[in-house]
Amino acid sequence: MLKRIGVVTSGGDAPGMNAAIRAVVRTAYPKGLQVYGFLRGYEGLINNSFMRLDPRAVGGIIHLGGTILRTIRCPEFRTRKGIKKAAETLEKNRIDGLVVIGGNGSFRGAYALSKQTDTAIVGVPATIDNDVYGTEETIGFDTAVNTAVSEIDKIRDTAVSHERVFIVEVMGRKRGFLALTVGLTVGAENILVPELGFNADEICNDILESIKKGKRSSIIVAAEGVKGTRKLAKQIHKRTGCEVRLTVLGHVQRGGHPTARSRMLACLFGEKAVETLLNKEEDKIICINRNQLTTLSLKETVKHEKPLNTELLELAKRLAV
Ligand code: ADP
Repeated sequence: MLKRIGVVTSGGDAPGMNAAIRAVVRTAYPKGLQVYGFLRGYEGLINNSFMRLDPRAVGGIIHLGGTILRTIRCPEFRTRKGIKKAAETLEKNRIDGLVVIGGNGSFRGAYALSKQTDTAIVGVPATIDNDVYGTEETIGFDTAVNTAVSEIDKIRDTAVSHERVFIVEVMGRKRGFLALTVGLTVGAENILVPELGFNADEICNDILESIKKGKRSSIIVAAEGVKGTRKLAKQIHKRTGCEVRLTVLGHVQRGGHPTARSRMLACLFGEKAVETLLNKEEDKIICINRNQLTTLSLKETVKHEKPLNTELLELAKRLAV
């Protein structure tokens, strides 16, 4: 019987992680489960550092960004020894189920751990990258999108007034989900994603065309993983004569109060994670697709790459005429 569960936040922080911790604790507690919150990501599992969590301990955090349990990237967890220590910690504390709140890397770690422990593991997707295979959306994505959109709206004022081209870099080292949604919703003239790269000539031609059509400014949204944006800025200036500015939005996108949407997902995912453990399902992640909550095995999610919806890129292009 399930008696004691652990919860851990791992990898990059995402707004809504706290709301997810709260949902896990407040679903588990009335069912008679004890909850151990492991600290600083997988390091807490390796070092056996945790805090006991009850419903009062997670009061007043639903609206806070970051994570009260802290999170780090933990290289030791990538080693056999690290995984073994984590498995021992779970055994020593008689943890029957573990909820891992994090992104792809955290789930790869969770999958490795699942092979070395009898503790059932359930993953809750929380990352601003939205790159977890199996779920349409992750906790924190909507918040990061809205933060980037409100910053770029401000940049647009300057772009229009000064008749400039702005290349705005948003987060996304490997994947372009954030750049795509942000680009579409700020009305960017071009969106650059790491999956596809870009053609500098085409972009310059687009800008020359748009000047002919009477446009006075251009916004190009690029994911940080797109190589060569500095060079692109120089090329655009040379070919079009436009003044070009490159702006990196940076870490503002990771923090801040979670939006209602991110909190909603956190509540839904957190409750479903505990229910999944109570149903004796193990080694799964929680997913939302077409507004339905489902589960997928950890093995499947780490094996596949989530596809980028390139139709949205086409739509952004059509609407940028
Ligand atoms: P995210 O979960 O946001 O994608 P990371 O990629 O940094 O963040 O992964 C978080 C942590 O998960 C890493 O610091 C590491 O401890 C663990 N991890 C990532 N990949 C693996 C792996 N292949 N095997 C074991 N642990 C991993």
